[in-house]
Parts: sequence; structure tokens; C-alpha cells
Amino acid sequence: MSELCVVRYAEIFLKGQNRHFFEERLQRNLRAALRPLAGAHVRRLHGRMLVDPGPAGVARAIELLARVFGVASLSPALVVPPDLEALGAAALELTRVEVARRAGAPPSFKVETRRSDKRFPLQSPQVSQEIGARIVAALALPVDVHDPDVLVTVEIGVERSFVFAATIPGPGGLPVGTAGRVTALVSGGIDSPVAAWLAMKRGCEVEAVYFHSFPYTGDRTKEKVRDLCRVISAWHGPMTLWVVHFTDVQKALRGAGPAELAVVLYRRMMLRIAAERARLSGSKALVTGESLGQVASQTLDNLAVIDDAAPMPVLRPLIASDKTEIIATARRIGTYDVSVQPYDDCCSLFTPKHPATKARLQHVEAAEARLDLAALAAAAAAQAERFEVTP
Ligand code: ATP
Ligand code: MG
Repeated sequence: MSELCVVRYAEIFLKGQNRHFFEERLQRNLRAALRPLAGAHVRRLHGRMLVDPGPAGVARAIELLARVFGVASLSPALVVPPDLEALGAAALELTRVEVARRAGAPPSFKVETRRSDKRFPLQSPQVSQEIGARIVAALALPVDVHDPDVLVTVEIGVERSFVFAATIPGPGGLPVGTAGRVTALVSGGIDSPVAAWLAMKRGCEVEAVYFHSFPYTGDRTKEKVRDLCRVISAWHGPMTLWVVHFTDVQKALRGAGPAELAVVLYRRMMLRIAAERARLSGSKALVTGESLGQVASQTLDNLAVIDDAAPMPVLRPLIASDKTEIIATARRIGTYDVSVQPYDDCCSLFTPKHPATKARLQHVEAAEARLDLAALAAAAAAQAERFEVTP
């Protein structure tokens, strides 16, 4: 008996003509995720993927595969010779494991058989009945054919036969790389790493830009952003982080307009610089962690004024999320513990206690008119430091 993992994908099926493209990419991403495991293989089979985990074993493979977007669910499976004895023994073993994992009251179960190898002497319903009877005899579990707690699946194929009894949810979404590239503005906070992760989830390849205001924000903050990118790169594969040196730009902006407009001026400039970076990398949109009304700079009035400076679409995956929801996601994906470490926020630099909640475009433009914005943005983007971040 050997172990493998059945990988299911759902949404990709909806894509009609593009299905092939999505499947290819998913297969490639599964292979990339399994790179740390020597001898692992991924094969496409009838609208699913079969992963042979190699010597590392299926549990380790599932840990890695559970972070590949586009995966709807995963099942550890036992590969067995196509005879009733072997299939029955495998089904019993897997059911036993699943019952132990669930603890509590004995779960109901059902055996479902699919037989694509018509040479097999029994028909599918007979196989299910035979194996079901063995499980009842050995484990005394109740059968429920309509809504079983545990679904034991037996597949008798021409090339190989296998059995599985557990289904682990995958991360859903679409394979990274199927939606094009975006540039995410990632700070050391809680929100923006979650926003970047959500863009990955919808199939975007993501590069990150962080605006660093040394010496006002220390190098620890830069390290923190690298750590955050490292965490989310586990869902993405190696990613690029650009660190833009923002201090001089901030000083120029701060000198150009009233203090209460400072944050809006910084944000507009961040979008311009990030868009310049995006243009150089072939990104089609920017991503931020803004959420409507969360802080003064995120009122609808201010977002409108900020957006006005962006020469490409700005995606805001968190726009309608509450902070508690964002925190729950951050915990789940592992960024929260890094985000809550102390850091300095560059946007609180040189800013008043009461920033404008309704910035007016004409006032902002009057302040900006004193500066050569295009030159500042191009220089900041060109001088950005590049880091390659891996999980
Ligand atoms: P976060 O938790 O992501 O810092 P926030 O709720 O604190 O978000 P703001 O500080 O108002 O919000 O920033 C709004 C968005 O602007 C951030 O989500 C991020 O996308 C971007 N941003 C802010 N500061 C920086 C920075 N120093 N570097 C890169 N992006 C930034
Ligand atoms: Mg912040």
C-alpha cells in the first residue's frame, strides 16, 4: 500500500475555454509548492490532481498543498491493488483513523464506489455493500446513505485503485498567476499584508512595495515588512519586495502644504511611486489595505482624493471588512503575530493630531503644484531597494 493525495479544484471548472490554462497553472503551482519534497509528483487525472508525496509522506505534502490557491479540497488516499480484500482493508484502516480524529460520538458513514475498470468482477454498489459490511462488523458505526459524517470513497481505476475517507478543505481561490500581476503597498500594519494575501487568493502574482522613512522609521520596521512578506509568500512562492526611501519625499510634501493634509499628500505620492514601480514590473493594478471609515485618511472623501492621484486601478480588498474580520484572517494566515510587534508608522511623521477627514482636491493640488511630482516619483521608484523574499 502506498499513500497519495487527491487534490480537487472547483471554481476553475467554471472557466470554460480557459479551463486548460487554469489547470496547467494549478499543476505548476502544486509542483512548486512541493519542491522541498524530494521525489514528489503531480499528475492530472479526470478533473483532479493526484499527488504522490514521495518519501516525505502525505501529511507533510498536505501541509504544503493546503496553501496553494485554487485547491478546493484534499484527501489523503491509500493506493491498493484492485481486489476486494485489499480495498476493504484500506477502507477500514482509513475509517478507523477518521473516527479517531473526530473523537466524540461514533460518526455515521457511507461507502461510495466508482469503478472505471470494468474488468473488476463486482459492480460498484456491490463493492460498497461488501466494504460497508466489513466496517460495520469491525467498528459498529451507523450507516447513513443520505448525509453521512464520513464518506469512504473507493475508486477502482484501470491504472490504479485507491481509497480515501477524509476531506480537508483547501484555501479556495484561483491559482496564483492566472489573474495577472499587481503591486501591493505593504506596511508593517495588520491590514495591508491581509490585502496582499487576498489579491494572491484571487490569482494575482503580487510584488510588494514598502515606504521606508529612515531614520524616523527604523530598520526593524523594514525587517518586519520582510517578515510579513515571508509569511504570505508561503501562499505565493518567492516574491519581490521593493523598499522605497521616502524620507526626502515626505519632507518635500510636508513643506508644501498644511499639516492637516499631510497624510493625504503622502498617500497620493505613495500611489504615484508604486504605480511607477508597477509600470516597470508589468503590474496592472495597485493593492492597499484600506477599509472604509477605519481611520481619518480612509473616509470616502479622502479615498476619492487619494484615488485621483493613481494612474492605474487601486484594488482595496478590505474596503468592506471590519477590523475584527481582518484580524481573524491575519491570525489564520500567520501575519498577525508579526504585525502586532511594535513599529513606527511613517504616516504619523510630521502629522497633526487632527488630520483632515474631508480633504479637498483643489487644496491638495495647490500644495502639490509647488513640486515636480513626476520627477520625485520617478527618482524614488528608480532608487528603490530590491529584496527577494522566500517562504
Ligand atoms: P495597515 O494596517 O496596512 O498599515 P492601516 O489601517 O494602518 O493599514 P493606513 O496606515 O492608513 O492604514 O494605510 C493605508 C494603506 O496605505 C495601507 O493599508 C497600505 O496599503 C498603505 N500604506 C500605508 N503606509 C505604508 C507604508 N509605509 N508602506 C507601504 N504601504 C503603506
Ligand atoms: Mg498603517
